[in-house]
Amino acid sequence: MTRHGAAIEALKRTGHRLTPQRVMVLSVIAEQPAHVGVEEIQSRVKAVYPYMDQATVYRTIHLLKELGLVTEIQAGGASRYELSASGRHHHMVCRECGGAFDLSPSYLEEFRATLVRDFGFEPDLDHFAVAGRCASCGGKRVSPAAAISTERK
Ligand SMILES: [Zn+2]
Ligand SMILES: [Zn+2]
Repeated sequence: MTRHGAAIEALKRTGHRLTPQRVMVLSVIAEQPAHVGVEEIQSRVKAVYPYMDQATVYRTIHLLKELGLVTEIQAGGASRYELSASGRHHHMVCRECGGAFDLSPSYLEEFRATLVRDFGFEPDLDHFAVAGRCASCGGKRVSPAAAISTERK
């Protein structure tokens, strides 16, 4: 089953009606190769349902988030979304272009261990996002190894 299909099944299991709007918003998020922002979701939904208003799109995204089907990535102001089924990872979010990049959990393992050791503090890093500037927006050059490990698709 595709990730999209799995998300639709999950929505059904929660007992929520599969309205065309819900299916549409879920599809838009599922079909994006990367993390999608609210404006992009809105413009794609509008292309199919010109009369669907912004509030409905927001409500739908919120519902999908509450149900745990969609994860919100917040950094640098704008929110971006992805299917929760994308697996556990962290994000780097660019302040310039708003791009969100996946970061494998291994990068933060040492950080997590340090917080536990020094403060007895167990951080919840599941939706952890680091704001900054990406390579194409003029950040520091990346080593080939780092570039590969942040690529997921
Ligand atoms: Zn950028
Ligand atoms: Zn991600």
